[in-house]
Amino acid sequence: MSAPTKPLPRIDADSAPFWEAAAEGRLVGQRCGSCDSWRWPPREHCPECHAATPVWHELPGTGSIVGLVVVHRPMDPAFADEIPLALIHVVLDGTDDKGVLQSTLQQGEWEHARVGSRVAVQFTPLHDDVVLPTFTLLELEKEI
Ligand SMILES: [Zn+2]
Repeated sequence: MSAPTKPLPRIDADSAPFWEAAAEGRLVGQRCGSCDSWRWPPREHCPECHAATPVWHELPGTGSIVGLVVVHRPMDPAFADEIPLALIHVVLDGTDDKGVLQSTLQQGEWEHARVGSRVAVQFTPLHDDVVLPTFTLLELEKEI
């Protein structure tokens, strides 16, 4: 029996540029073209000034963990092979405290991760040509 298929992220018109960039190995973030505030998840209207002028910016792909939850029981059996799974919130370099991306940490690194740990993006292929930006610790050696 083959392993259950992992659900794919929901891709809509607002988030499509993010997923297209990820498929090319680039990390991009959305910013308001009117008031310059960063936001996640992507959406048409700015939550600050309501302008419908989203602009995508190329980001360096590094950041700092500001939230960390380690999951020891899979919510979906398809993720059983990734347990324990570290869900992280990352403030991306080049943005501000509103440029927070939710993602996961490289398998096996959760024991070394802390709030404040520096991370770098890596691009994890799923299926159907979808590529998921996930993160790996930048300073694993120093923290052991
Ligand atoms: Zn705005």
